[in-house]
Order: sequence, then C-alpha cells, then structure tokens
Amino acid sequence: MKPAPFAYVRPATLDDAVAELAATDGDGKVLAGGQSLVPVLAMRLGRPGTLVDINAVAGLDGLERRDGALRIGATVRQRHVERSSAAAAVPLLGLALPFVGHRELRSRGTVCGSLAHADPGAELPAVALCLGAALEVTGPRGRRTVRAADFFQGAMTTAVGPDEILTAVQFPAAGPGEGFGFAELARRHGDFALAGVVTRVRSRDGAVAEAVLSGFGVSDRPVTRDVTELVRAAAGEADVETALRPGTEELAREMVDTAGDAHGSQGYRRRLFAVLAARELARAHRRATESPS
Ligand SMILES: Cc1cc2nc3c(=O)[nH]c(=O)nc-3n(C[C@H](O)[C@H](O)[C@H](O)COP(=O)(O)OP(=O)(O)OC[C@H]3O[C@@H](n4cnc5c(N)ncnc54)[C@H](O)[C@@H]3O)c2cc1C
Repeated sequence: MKPAPFAYVRPATLDDAVAELAATDGDGKVLAGGQSLVPVLAMRLGRPGTLVDINAVAGLDGLERRDGALRIGATVRQRHVERSSAAAAVPLLGLALPFVGHRELRSRGTVCGSLAHADPGAELPAVALCLGAALEVTGPRGRRTVRAADFFQGAMTTAVGPDEILTAVQFPAAGPGEGFGFAELARRHGDFALAGVVTRVRSRDGAVAEAVLSGFGVSDRPVTRDVTELVRAAAGEADVETALRPGTEELAREMVDTAGDAHGSQGYRRRLFAVLAARELARAHRRATESPS
C-alpha cells in the first residue's frame, strides 16, 4: 500500500520545527529515522496530515559526555552510538543496541525515535528505565526534562505531547562498582523479543548497594523493579543464579502481564522472563563485584 497524502516540511532550526509542529494542531508527526513511522504510513495505520522532518535541524546531532552522562541528540542514529567510543561510558547501550532490529535499520533509526515510539517490545526504553535516564522534551512552552520512570505511559504512548519534540536523552554513565546484564529471546535475530531483561547491580565494599531489574516485551510498556533485597539475599550463596530463581519467578508473575499469542503463551513468557532475569542479575552482580568500587 501507499501512504495517504501528507504535507512534508524540513525545518533547519529547532524553533521552526516546534512552530511547524504546533501549526498542525495535533495532526503532525515528527519524522526522525522513519524506520517505524514509514511502515505505519505505508500500511495506513496512521494518517498524519504533516510530517515534520527533523533531520536538518541544527544542533540535534550531538553525542557527548556531559555531567556524568552520555547525551544523545534526537537525530543521532542507533548505529552511530553502537560504533562510538563515547558509548563505552554506558555499557548497557553496547549490550542492547545489536538486538535493535537489523544493522541496516539501525543505520537510519535514531535512539530518541525508539524512545519516542515506545514499542512495548523495544530494547532501548527498558535500558532508559533501568538506568534512570533523563529525557529532554521541547515544545511551544519551552524545554522540560522528564525522568524515564514518568516517560513511558502505555503502548506507543509517552509523556511527549503532540506539539513537542524529544530533543535529547541523557543516559547516566556507569559508576564504580556497577555491573550490567542484558538478554532477550526472539524467534529470529532482529525480531521484537518474546521477552527481554535489562539488569543493573551496584556494589560497595563488596556488598550489594543497589539492584534493578527491567523488562520489555512483557507488558504494554517497559517495566522495572528495585530488586536490591533479592540480590543481596542471594549474593552470599555459592550459586547466585539458582538462589535468585524463586524471587524472579515471583517477579515474573507480577511483571509479565502481556497475554499469550501465537508465538508464546503468557505462562511461557513468565518462565522465560524468570530464567533470563535470574541469569542476568547474577551476571550483573558478578560484573559489579569484579568492577573496582
Ligand atoms: C523490520 C523491523 C524490525 C525492527 N525491530 C526492532 C527491534 O527489534 N527493536 C526495536 O526497538 N525496534 C525495532 N524496529 C524499529 C526501529 O528500531 C526504529 O528505528 C525505531 O523504533 C524508531 O526510530 P526512528 O528514528 O526510525 O523513528 P521514526 O520511525 O522516524 O518515528 C517513530 C515514531 O516516533 C516519533 N518520533 C521519532 N522521533 C521523535 C522525536 N525526536 N520527538 C518526538 N517524536 C518522535 C515519530 O513521530 C513516530 O511516531 C524495527 C523496525 C523494523 C522495520
């Protein structure tokens, strides 16, 4: 199919982009990498009257370390981040990005586009949640910063208003004593996952100071839990992963509420989530213990 007719604008400044979007009165869409939006248009699942292409907007292409965070502008491609040495500051991006679709898609798709699109099966929203990322949103009323915990509000629904642009995201850089884990299961590499987990453990003086478990593909939005007590209790055991399993099975019943489909029942997804969560929390714990605090 072909898209329904739409108007197309390609502003050169952020002020103009915001003004163009506001002028559409809710009938406009931001075009970033187009890897999700263009298929939506082609299948006529969406019929925006105007596309505001932000790719020529000056100042949105920055990728830089700033104030203990990696700041990624709205037009920075996923593949650029994946290949950048600056991204080493956020190890979870290096673990997760190779699983975001295929390399060709990542060459066009943007990090901010993935966050703004908020597909419940997407990897990067869960990474943002696990790390407590800060998202910069700009609109006619100025710029505001939204915490990842408040950003994802449902399937394909975020705190970005119809007249606003996600201009950048800040991922906190890894600190001393931090370890991370990531895993997903998809039927084929590049497909959206049946279930996936993102983990972060921080240790101080050999003890677990903080542990976080986030999941994707398991609900209508990425989900997250503070699991410090669970990991602390398992940390002293010879086999940390096995010791974590009863706890992750309980968490799976709570965190995995997506219904079953042709690819896997709800019960299967819960078992999968529990196994991946225990494995990746144990891995993050081991890495945190090995990392100098
Ligand atoms: C075959 C296929 C497989 C895929 N597999 C995966 C996968 O496994 N995991 C995964 O995470 N993704 C996957 N994707 C999606 C891909 O990663 C997209 O790149 C990403 O979801 C959207 O990024 P984009 O820059 O292309 O955004 P676009 O397609 O340009 O936009 C997507 C949506 O976000 C909005 N938007 C984009 N940028 C902004 C902004 N700065 N401010 C406000 N709104 C904005 C747009 O208006 C639109 O509604 C897949 C896509 C395809 C076609």
